[in-house]
Amino acid sequence: MLDFLGNLERTHLCGTLRVADAGKQVVLMGWVNRRRDHGNLIFLDLRDRSGIAQIVLDKELTPEGHARGEQVRPEYVVAAVGKVRLRAPDAINPKMETGEIEIEATELLVLNDARLAPFSPSEEAIQNEEVRLKYRYIDLRRPEMQRNFRLRHLITLAIRQSLSSQGFLEIETPILTKSTPEGARDFLVPSRVHPGQFYALPQSPQIFKQILMISGCDRYFQIARCFRDEDLRADRQLEFTQVDLEMSFPRRDHVFGVVEQFMKAAFAAAGVALPIPFPRITYDESMRQYGTDKPDLRLPGLSDVRAAFTDDALATLQIDPALPVVAFRIPGVGELSRKEREENHPLFDSKKGAKFLDDFKRLAKSFPESAARVRELAGAAEVDFVIVVAGDPNHHIKASDTKFPGRLSEREINVYAAAGNFRSELAKKYADRHGAFRVTEETVVAAHARGAQDPVDGAQAFHPIWLTDFPMFEYDLGLGKWMPAHHPFTAPYEADMANLVSDPASVRADCYDLAMNGLELGSGSIRIHRKDVQQQIFASLGISDQEARKRFGFFLDALEYGTPPHGGIALGLDRIVMLLAGAANLREVIAFPKTAKAIDLMADAPTTVTEQQLKELHIRVALKS
Ligand code: ASP
Repeated sequence: MLDFLGNLERTHLCGTLRVADAGKQVVLMGWVNRRRDHGNLIFLDLRDRSGIAQIVLDKELTPEGHARGEQVRPEYVVAAVGKVRLRAPDAINPKMETGEIEIEATELLVLNDARLAPFSPSEEAIQNEEVRLKYRYIDLRRPEMQRNFRLRHLITLAIRQSLSSQGFLEIETPILTKSTPEGARDFLVPSRVHPGQFYALPQSPQIFKQILMISGCDRYFQIARCFRDEDLRADRQLEFTQVDLEMSFPRRDHVFGVVEQFMKAAFAAAGVALPIPFPRITYDESMRQYGTDKPDLRLPGLSDVRAAFTDDALATLQIDPALPVVAFRIPGVGELSRKEREENHPLFDSKKGAKFLDDFKRLAKSFPESAARVRELAGAAEVDFVIVVAGDPNHHIKASDTKFPGRLSEREINVYAAAGNFRSELAKKYADRHGAFRVTEETVVAAHARGAQDPVDGAQAFHPIWLTDFPMFEYDLGLGKWMPAHHPFTAPYEADMANLVSDPASVRADCYDLAMNGLELGSGSIRIHRKDVQQQIFASLGISDQEARKRFGFFLDALEYGTPPHGGIALGLDRIVMLLAGAANLREVIAFPKTAKAIDLMADAPTTVTEQQLKELHIRVALKS
């Protein structure tokens, strides 16, 4: 039999009661986490968002309450009325925050029953993620998940406050709109009233935020949902949240300053002191030093070890002397057996003409000096595992492999990238041995334990870095044309404008990325604000006037009505929260995520719709059988 709530009002949250509350009359409401029946005494662990309190139902004191206590099962919803008292010394539970007190109940109301859940919110680790996602409402009751969403709230709030205090206004942009230029596929929404026409869900608020600058809004931000119909990859979500902002009359330093302020505030809200300003590196330098444009600075980068080899040695080892020869070390791994080394091979991508050496014993037999010098140049200690990555002279790629003045060629990039990927794969594989990632974990745990009052030092655990000077264009071999490396509204460096047509590959874009601990957190740019430049860029990208008008005509029109110089950035909120929660994937910090196969297991989406709905939308579905 269930009870009505009546006039009963909750007075406290379970997890907040302490010794100082002893003697207080309280009303608690929540879920039964656990029940222990000791005959005349029944103990209930009552759980709400704040934590757990122990309720004691004594048959002598409250025969009715005790009888109801016999009836409840895990996840029943109950209200307990009673008095806080100190536990007997031998009953104190130092592991519980409320472990020194308990509630001597005088009344227990059973507000609702519950079916037996497929797992209990008090289980620490639930293996089957599909079950967690299907029963997300049970999963979200777990303290860890409650903590993640509280953290997400605090981080978002801190970002809003920081941006507001920096003069930004939060303005919403449409969800039903027109295709935006981020390069992914659009999600389309058919229009009922305009047969055969479609809205697109925004891949980002890009065009609207630029128009807000034309509109004189000066500084805009939005915690914006973005939709990209991308091919499925682990840890990608089709919809995700960005901290999106745009400002008028900035140089990129101003954008960096704004972001550093709100990142500092966000980290502080999570209990971590993040030093600012963040270091900067150019794209080319990042490729040379880390083999990636999202470097993880927690581990040593790549070293140029070309000088360790004579030309003869390179020839014998079948290494291309014209390409970089780099080495990296994974600290603390120790010497690996041949079998162990072979197990690493699948982690290396040799498709683009890179090869590696990791057998130093063999190398030392034929080229003892080279072997010793490589380790020296890489700064390797005895226990560090060292790998050399170089170019394969027998590999030829089709691309126009010209060397641009002062820039890396595609083949060079391929060698660096192969080294960078291998480095990060091995760093993951040997995480236990080098311990660098553990520092981050320990910092997160300490921050959560101490709360925002007394932030822990984040300098060793979190490594933000700005990347600048990206190439403006990338040559897409498949499509056989130049593509924007960022999006087509990114401004080229003024100094490089003259080369737009003659030498597009040498043009640098005034765009920037923020990376942290090997993750790309986001990117942005100074935008093109002049129509003539915009037209030139479209021309360089092979986008015809007609096509440009069709896709972005309204924006091109707006550009002609007094567009201020402007620029901005968008950072992935989910990723920031994931880092600060110490979570292994994005689904841990998104309340209702989709699976890696793009399915919402709880709501059962996507799904078929009725004939009637399709008819109203003027749509006929033709499935290939
Ligand atoms: N709209 C861009 C993106 O989503 C960010 C920006 O340029 O501000 O990547």
